[in-house]
Amino acid sequence: MNEFDLIQHFFLKQKIKRQDVTLGIGDDAALLSLKKGQSLVITTDTMVEGVHFKPHTHPAHLGHKILAVNLSDLAAMGATPAWVTLALTLPEANPAWLEAFGSGFFSLAEQFQVELIGGDLTRGPLSMTVGAYGLVPPGLALRRDTAKPLDKIFVSNTLGDAAFGLTSANPFFLKKLETPIPEITLGESLRNTAHACIDVSDGLIADLSHILAKSGVGATIFTHKIPLSEELKKHTDYEKALTLALSGGDDYVLCFTVPPKNAHKISSKCTEIGFITENPEFRILNEDSSTYSPITAGYQHF
Ligand SMILES: [Mg+2]
Repeated sequence: MNEFDLIQHFFLKQKIKRQDVTLGIGDDAALLSLKKGQSLVITTDTMVEGVHFKPHTHPAHLGHKILAVNLSDLAAMGATPAWVTLALTLPEANPAWLEAFGSGFFSLAEQFQVELIGGDLTRGPLSMTVGAYGLVPPGLALRRDTAKPLDKIFVSNTLGDAAFGLTSANPFFLKKLETPIPEITLGESLRNTAHACIDVSDGLIADLSHILAKSGVGATIFTHKIPLSEELKKHTDYEKALTLALSGGDDYVLCFTVPPKNAHKISSKCTEIGFITENPEFRILNEDSSTYSPITAGYQHF
């Protein structure tokens, strides 16, 4: 198959057809009709073989994950996902690989009613880039620079499971690592409730630090409040589990800050782990009030 056939075969298989897409794949560019009174939220993320995923990762999981990490960024903004673009670089035109990649990609796209509106296919070392576009009412997007002193800090799920999946063949951890589910519904529900929000991709310490730096505040969090899965506690000792939870990446849970008056509105599936302080210090305390010293702070891109 040539590039054109591959694109035809692959990209035109999606079932989602949104009303707001005037012109989708097949022209020089896509045309979208935007409603008044909505802000457009835009993000993009790349995954490169050997950097972001191991060689021979199942293509269906790659298709899922490259979409999931982008939708997770929209979730962290409180946005409702609408459209995506996909640029794929492949060492060879392998129809079976593309078929599997597409099954992972499109089943997640269907789950969130996201339409693929453009794409590109190139030959080269395996890498994939998605651009994701979402919508949010003006003024209600969740940002990193809006945390306030006394806000309570929450995380939306257990931490450290995905990082443990990097060195484990256990299906529970591999699922967390390779097919995370973006917290879209939660992000939308936080629009009127939370002050600041980020998705945890590089590790809790690293990502919460971004909120603190952007907001000009500090935080105190407690190690004994960090949610750990029963599976993680069963498969490793507490110290290692805590290190993975605080400094491991790829969890794609939301970390957000909430003014005390709104704390009762937060779903019981989320866990309160500490609070924002006016003092710009980031303190991590153990249950006995001693200071916890992390072994590593988180994933560094460079
Ligand atoms: Mg992010």
